[in-house]
Amino acid sequence: MRYEISGKELTCSHCEFVGFDCSSAQLNTAMMTFLDIEWLNASATVFGCQNCGRLEWFASNAKIVELDDLTETECLACNSLILNGESSCRKCGWSYQT
Ligand SMILES: [Zn+2]
Ligand SMILES: [Zn+2]
Repeated sequence: MRYEISGKELTCSHCEFVGFDCSSAQLNTAMMTFLDIEWLNASATVFGCQNCGRLEWFASNAKIVELDDLTETECLACNSLILNGESSCRKCGWSYQT
């Protein structure tokens, strides 16, 4: 599933993939101190990258919107994946639109 958070699509900061599994997590005080988010109440939303497994954490007050699931359209120029809702290839910039 793809997600948008506060108006920007969630992208893995490691591999730049955009498919994530989402779950909410209760944070204990030690974890909150580690993440420097003691000013929040003790829950967060965790997104696990479906490609590399990196976890992306967001506070429970983040504006999270579920986007469409991944669709597999291939770039005709470089064969990399073009995602639903994107009009051009992330890798080479090739576009279906002229
Ligand atoms: Zn990743
Ligand atoms: Zn391409």
